[in-house]
Amino acid sequence: MSQERGTTSGHRGLDAEEPLIFEQGSPDKTGVDLPEPPPHADRLGGLGRARPIGMPGLAEPEVVRHYLRLSRQNFCIDGGFYPLGSCTMKHNPRLNEKLARLPGIGDLHPLQPASTVQGALALIDACAGWLKALTGLPAVAMSPGAGAHGELTGLMTIRAALEDRGDARARVLVPESAHGTNPASARFCGYRVDAIPADRRGRVDVAAMKQKLGDDVAAIMLTNPNTCGLFENDILEIAAAVHDAGAFFYCDGANFNAIVGRVRPGDLGIDCMHINLHKTFSTPHGGGGPGAGPVVLSAALAPFAPVPAVVHGADGSFRIIEHPCQSDAKPFGRIKAFHGQFGMFVRALAYMMSMGADGLRQASGDAVLNANYLMARLDGTLHPAFPGPCMHEVLFDEDSLKDTGVTTLDLAKALIDEGFHPMTVYFPLVVHGAMLVEPTETESKETLDAFIASLENLVARARSGDVRFFEEAPRLAPRRRLDETRAARQPVLRWRPPVPGAAAE
Ligand SMILES: *Cc1c(COP(=O)(O)O)cnc(C)c1O
Repeated sequence: MSQERGTTSGHRGLDAEEPLIFEQGSPDKTGVDLPEPPPHADRLGGLGRARPIGMPGLAEPEVVRHYLRLSRQNFCIDGGFYPLGSCTMKHNPRLNEKLARLPGIGDLHPLQPASTVQGALALIDACAGWLKALTGLPAVAMSPGAGAHGELTGLMTIRAALEDRGDARARVLVPESAHGTNPASARFCGYRVDAIPADRRGRVDVAAMKQKLGDDVAAIMLTNPNTCGLFENDILEIAAAVHDAGAFFYCDGANFNAIVGRVRPGDLGIDCMHINLHKTFSTPHGGGGPGAGPVVLSAALAPFAPVPAVVHGADGSFRIIEHPCQSDAKPFGRIKAFHGQFGMFVRALAYMMSMGADGLRQASGDAVLNANYLMARLDGTLHPAFPGPCMHEVLFDEDSLKDTGVTTLDLAKALIDEGFHPMTVYFPLVVHGAMLVEPTETESKETLDAFIASLENLVARARSGDVRFFEEAPRLAPRRRLDETRAARQPVLRWRPPVPGAAAE
């Protein structure tokens, strides 16, 4: 590594190469002074560990440097522009963090008696109230821990409602452009997935969808705006057809950020929609968790929502329904321990209250404006997959790189050297060499212009035939091109101490 970097230390300027903590520490070192434990009787019946546990010992400054250096190898929204389509990587206001850390909030324990956490329950109820108002749907299950978890919760609610009317159904319709979690959730819930094609406009082919409807269809799972960044204009017709077939309309609400304060999903005929608080309501994404994926529900589905639920007591206090038997309704069961990601409810509520109704409406407008600004300014540089304005994200195909020998992946890798997180690539699958760019409303015109300038230069370089430049990208990242297939197929998840004398791998 050091040779590759051209330095003796392996470091590159202020970017330090960082070994694993186990490679740095040694068990005989420690950062704290503790007295020898007094002699004690063996209470483990001789089952105590005989060998040392092998924890790495480091001094406090070594630990601090280790984690700080690791953090600098990780791209983050606080560090730079992160236009990862479909993920809505927007700024998380620090006000949210401040409130989530208030001792009265951050130090709560989920097993505290309800009488001691009335404020927290009121907060969950208030957050739920905002979500219901913004979606125009009468109920919400707060506990799901992420968008995909919300999908599963929604489908389990739908299944319970269908079974309750003695109408178990077998199929779920999912557009080809859907996020992979949609078919996965349907399958996980025991349904057969039936794909609906997209039409030339990048929307659901309504005629093909109607042909697939039948009395064995439990639900359609539609994303709106869809993963091509386009509003499904035929949504009212789709909802009517789905309901006529006795099925439910599930909406993947991951793209809610494009329409908050402007369209209420309930008014579009949607029965059920998960909301990714970590996308729309500015709570941290955090490496896959903790996100939060509350599911809003129509009146027909509300009785089947999972426990726990916060309900208003007779005296104005709040109660928690913990078990289905405590409920007057027909909850399908429990989907998660405790009440969901409470810290995310705090952050989302802080965001919604500080933005206000007008602020939320402006945020969705600005998100759409920023995406369309990119689309307009990149005209001639990148080729839009579909004509016309987009919603909160803009989708390009690979046509602009035709005959250059440079691919979507190469362009994405070169963006890393430019200091930008690449856009989402090769998703959605309905577009060849897809590049899905989602700037979000929290980026300034200056940032967008810098991103545009980088893309213009890179595409010009590709067209000039400099394939080599792209093959070598990224040059400046802590790691160069990785064998991503091998990393996915054969991940090395466990560190093993080197065997003395054995050759290093
Ligand atoms: C992010 C996303 C999901 C999954 O949400 P998670 O919170 O990551 O589980 C589902 N559908 C779409 C369209 C998404 O963008």
